Amino acid sequence: MTSAQQVYLLIDLPAKNGRPARTSLWTAACRAQQWNKSDRTFRLEILSKALGRQIASATEIGALDDFDAVKRHLLMLADNVAGARETIEPEMGRARRLRDAIGDLIKCIRVYLDDQTDPFVAQIIKDKFNHGSRVTVVTVDDLTAAPIILRNGRQIPSQLDQLVYTLGACLNGSGKIRGGKRSRLGFRVAAGDTLHEMKIKAGVKCDCAQCLGGVSVPASRLDYQTETVKEPDPF
Ligand SMILES: [Zn+2]
Repeated sequence: MTSAQQVYLLIDLPAKNGRPARTSLWTAACRAQQWNKSDRTFRLEILSKALGRQIASATEIGALDDFDAVKRHLLMLADNVAGARETIEPEMGRARRLRDAIGDLIKCIRVYLDDQTDPFVAQIIKDKFNHGSRVTVVTVDDLTAAPIILRNGRQIPSQLDQLVYTLGACLNGSGKIRGGKRSRLGFRVAAGDTLHEMKIKAGVKCDCAQCLGGVSVPASRLDYQTETVKEPDPF
């Protein structure tokens, strides 16, 4: 890349002769992501990720497409913290969080299904992801957090996201008719438990206002507030 491009991407310039100091895009990205901007090895790792190939030195970044790819990537890192984290670790971080959420959901289902829980969850996974194979047993550990691209190019949520959604509906589905279709009646809803009550019974962390702040709010009101936000999201 040209020296001007290099400055733009990677080199911080101090204020000089009345010209204000200039922060490189790399430094801006590091600030947003709370990274150590002086870690050269790590920088090469990020640049390699942006380029989609391993480089040994920033001088290997070409002036045209390469520059654009790195610029796009660093801009995104500098601007959009949440989205950017996911491009950096598309699998690991998200997959771990989703598996934790699924673990909690299964504990909650156990409150209502007891020893029928494991076969119930296994059946859901089989129906959704096994695609008719009689031999392979698919478990939560086999599912991934990678978004699925259909043949027509449309992107749909990953397997783990789908499972979080479905298990959440098994607990929290309202059973009401929407768009001509009756939604699933969730186990929790059928039992008349609030989200808080279910989570306490299941022994999973509850992050309702009452549990977080020690504020005394009637459980029924909490439940109402939580549920009106977004129905499919179980937590
Ligand atoms: Zn709570």
